Amino acid sequence: MNEAEFKDLIEDSPFAGSPVKPTMLAEDAKLQFRCHRDVKCWNACCSNIDIPLTPYDVLRLKKRLDMSSGEFLKQYSVPFEMDKDGMPGIKLNPVEGGTACQFMTPEGCGVYEDRPTACRYYPVALLTMRRSDEYVDRSAYALVREPHCLGHFEDKIQTIEEYRHEQGVDEYDRKGHAWRQLVVKRKSAGPAIGKPTPVSNQLFFMASYDVDRFRAFVMSPSFNDTYDIPVEIMATLIADDEALLDFGLNFLRHALFGEKFVEERPDAYEKRLARRRALAEQEKEAAFQQKMALEDDKYSADH
Ligand code: SF4
Ligand code: SF4
Repeated sequence: MNEAEFKDLIEDSPFAGSPVKPTMLAEDAKLQFRCHRDVKCWNACCSNIDIPLTPYDVLRLKKRLDMSSGEFLKQYSVPFEMDKDGMPGIKLNPVEGGTACQFMTPEGCGVYEDRPTACRYYPVALLTMRRSDEYVDRSAYALVREPHCLGHFEDKIQTIEEYRHEQGVDEYDRKGHAWRQLVVKRKSAGPAIGKPTPVSNQLFFMASYDVDRFRAFVMSPSFNDTYDIPVEIMATLIADDEALLDFGLNFLRHALFGEKFVEERPDAYEKRLARRRALAEQEKEAAFQQKMALEDDKYSADH
């Protein structure tokens, strides 16, 4: 990767609005860094957060906190737009009226074993890109040097690979890879798929982050009237969040890019049409009744 490509990546990353300019790291680069309880800046990074969340981060945290995805999103996340077309992203929501993470404790991270990907990587950042002439995405790393972080002055030196392993990001990267590919594909598809509609952004949000609501959607009569999901697959989706997340990401590729993933029932189109017609009739009838009620009121007032 050259400097120009790196610059494009940074402009497309969550660092774009940050005054901190990361520097590019080669894959085998050495990292001088160590964070431990006795550093003078203990918790400084968690006191002023800007942590984007991946779908797998949400799964891990909601499981740990024993809450539904909807409850988690409401209490611990804030939405942001990942691109100019409004691709929905979420970040950790700080404490009310402040900038500190809600999970910060005097001893450190209160959800350490399930902390998000960005927290594991810090002060390294993972960037993903796909060039228009390539079919696969590529990863790059960047070092973020913030003045308050004194871990850079510690004497521990290791490669990025060793650091990733130490922080347990392998599993997070593996489970987050399909989603990162989807995000990069949506960004790079640009005009080819046109401006995403609000409905496609809502579907992207639900399948990516609100897994429990997506489960209810997948189990709904209208979904099952449209798509033919084998019973054993449906049983897995009902019971297993990770399987449902994988299914959701493939379903998004189906819905957004026309990559065939689920079978449509042969009469799905007719049924959809019939449902829409019935809905339109109901709305027409409701509007008529409302008009009649208004005229009745007017008539009684006139007499
Ligand atoms: S989740 Fe943990 S590591 Fe991440 S910002 Fe919050 S307290 Fe810090
Ligand atoms: S060394 Fe850096 S990462 Fe560790 S507590 Fe201090 S600011 Fe946070």
